Amino acid sequence: MERDNRIFDIIEREHQRQKHGIELIASENFVSDQVMQAMGSCLTNKYAEGYPGHRYYGGCQVVDEAEQLAINRVKELFGAEYANVQPHSGAQANMAVFMACLKPGDKFLGLNLSHGGHLSHGSPVNFSGLMFEALEYNVKEDTGLVDYDQMEEVARRERPKLIIGGASAYSREWDYARMRRLADEIGAILMVDMAHPAGLIAAGLLDNPVKYAHIVTSTTHKTLRGPRGGLILLGKDFENPWGKTNPKGELRKMSALLDSAVFPGVQGGPLEHVVAAKAVAFGEALQPSYKDYQAQVKKNAAVMAQALVDKGYKIISGGTDNHCMLVDLRTKFPDLTGKVAEKVLVEADITANKNMVPFDSRSPFQTSGIRLGTPAITTRGAKEELMGDIVEMIDTVLSNHDNPKVIADVREKVNKTMESYPMFAY
Ligand code: PLP
Repeated sequence: MERDNRIFDIIEREHQRQKHGIELIASENFVSDQVMQAMGSCLTNKYAEGYPGHRYYGGCQVVDEAEQLAINRVKELFGAEYANVQPHSGAQANMAVFMACLKPGDKFLGLNLSHGGHLSHGSPVNFSGLMFEALEYNVKEDTGLVDYDQMEEVARRERPKLIIGGASAYSREWDYARMRRLADEIGAILMVDMAHPAGLIAAGLLDNPVKYAHIVTSTTHKTLRGPRGGLILLGKDFENPWGKTNPKGELRKMSALLDSAVFPGVQGGPLEHVVAAKAVAFGEALQPSYKDYQAQVKKNAAVMAQALVDKGYKIISGGTDNHCMLVDLRTKFPDLTGKVAEKVLVEADITANKNMVPFDSRSPFQTSGIRLGTPAITTRGAKEELMGDIVEMIDTVLSNHDNPKVIADVREKVNKTMESYPMFAY
């Protein structure tokens, strides 16, 4: 068969875009060669519905080993008693938890989407908001911090069955212990979606939600630096509080409910090539150099946030404890939307995304903010010194957003700078 040059040319162009640009999307990263190799392997050819040792297809004895390795490694990484590594994405992992813990129409409580929450935590256009009754808590307008008092007030009044912690655009540590006390008080399940900070948590740089929450979900491709995918963890398995039984009438543990919710509940055959790549990434995360990488991600983010503040930008909550920050553009450029900021930055080969800020006066299509993160640029070997230069370049582009010549000059500088940074430096 002829080589499909059309698609491989596209892939090469994307490779060049990634190589020559400054990647600041907080949810992205660059994987190692061995993660990439596992993903592009013959494991993609294999059907393996079920779980290691209990499959619905023959010939699974080898992929069983890969999946078991992924499970064992991620359990070690986060100190979990149970892991499911099959969710195809973070949203699928969350969907499986909803399926295991709730019935359609049940109430649950998550962070307001426009305050940093994720679509799968209750957006009206997502399965979570369409099939269940979504309640929300906010961040405080003055501090930008999660409003735990309000969370408690809503939870005590509405008595949701599930409380969700975790976010897509929140730069501060969470009070998981307080959330667990609240869940226990009202008889709810606490789920923490650690998709964003999972890598920092794995490296011990942030508190580990597995110690507090009933259930923890994550993606594997953000700070964690694995292939695109999801996972579910239990710190400790527990009897489900809703009396769900198996066909033999036996009460099922939460681990069994979650396994059935992932397959056959919301997915068919697992992507064993991606599961193998997850195993590789978890193995990398258990190496000492991973701690150095994550420490640098955190340091770079803190320096970048401070450099932005020094230039007159407002960072929601004033700074960052993790890998990301949400910039409210209105203090410096009242007329510049996040949409335009994203566009002109992309023209300068600096990739970031527009994002609503809490209590935003603009729509989700325009927004007043941008979200920035350091996982990807740090994988390329960037240290604190580069953060000041990056902020300088961002500021030049935004201050000259209607000047194509200045933007082109910055692009040249970006491309030149990135020549000295390999795609994977750790
Ligand atoms: N949960 C959180 C907190 C996220 O930020 C995201 C993605 O950005 C997801 C879940 C969903 O992950 P995926 O895009 O893999 O479905």
